[in-house]
Amino acid sequence: MKLLEGKVALVTGAARGIGKAVALKFAAQGAAIAFTDLVIDDNAKATESEIAALGVKCKGYASNAADFGDTARVVEQIAADFGRIDILVNNAGITRDGLMMRMTEQQWDMVIGVNLKSAFNFIHALTPVMLKQRAGSIINMSSVVGVHGNAGQSNYSASKAGMIGLAKSIAQELGPRGIRANAIAPGFIMTEMTDALSDEVKADWAKRIPLRRGGTPEDVANVALFLASDLSSYVSGQVLQVLVGFSKIRLGLSKGRGGLQSFRQARMATVAPERGHWQVCEKTTAGSNRQN
Ligand code: NAP
Repeated sequence: MKLLEGKVALVTGAARGIGKAVALKFAAQGAAIAFTDLVIDDNAKATESEIAALGVKCKGYASNAADFGDTARVVEQIAADFGRIDILVNNAGITRDGLMMRMTEQQWDMVIGVNLKSAFNFIHALTPVMLKQRAGSIINMSSVVGVHGNAGQSNYSASKAGMIGLAKSIAQELGPRGIRANAIAPGFIMTEMTDALSDEVKADWAKRIPLRRGGTPEDVANVALFLASDLSSYVSGQVLQVLVGFSKIRLGLSKGRGGLQSFRQARMATVAPERGHWQVCEKTTAGSNRQN
């Protein structure tokens, strides 16, 4: 018997990266998969086919996770298409890194909207469905920087700390109705999000990790599988870090020993606001951005 046989999982932002790995892992364990992404383009369609090839029902839905109304609409559609929703993985996430003194209101609002409000949107829309089932597992994709903080990522860290508080509160609120909520806090995971960092920064990272390597999306998916399945039926309100072993770790923005100065010289990743996609910039000490 597969671990998720007969269950339906909804994963947000799963056309690629960690979300895709989670969806594939769940499908391999028998779950039907509904996933969302900003647009269902060729890449999302390919993900849909890859998941369906594992012999489960799978459908990708276009939705902006940060939008309350859009989320209510898509959850209603998924519940109608699949009949039930047992597992929710709030995975959609972006970064808009920068020092506080230079951070714009837009950078702050976008990150909080996509990373944190999205989780509220989906949990809010799914609560009636899960209450009716008297069962459910909610997984919030947080980050180690949500636990430890990180210079240059105050917006991202705050959003990811919020994901932890949200999971812990929902665990208390909905636990008596059989619904569990937990958070996963990945460290350095090799995806397009971290591809934007220079090789030097990545090598520096690896040196600080006890296992001396970055994690893979599958490493995170394995933990998500544990939290989604009945193997964790007595686990709720918890945060699982995957993996950080240092009390003070600068997550990629800083080149190493220096503080602000080396941070300024570090290669930074940012997102083109109009598209919501990554572009890589070289941030110099003079503060100018050079797009790669
Ligand atoms: P990724 O490769 O950039 O993938 C993010 C996914 O989210 C993409 O499919 C993206 O869609 C989607 N997305 C972005 N904005 C969205 C929105 N408004 N509505 C719906 N979907 C949206 O990132 P990742 O590395 O797999 O990260 C996945 C999650 O893990 C994020 O929450 C991230 O913060 C967290 N995390 C990652 C790491 C790491 O080292 N990679 C570490 C800790 C935590 P498009 O394809 O349309 O852009």
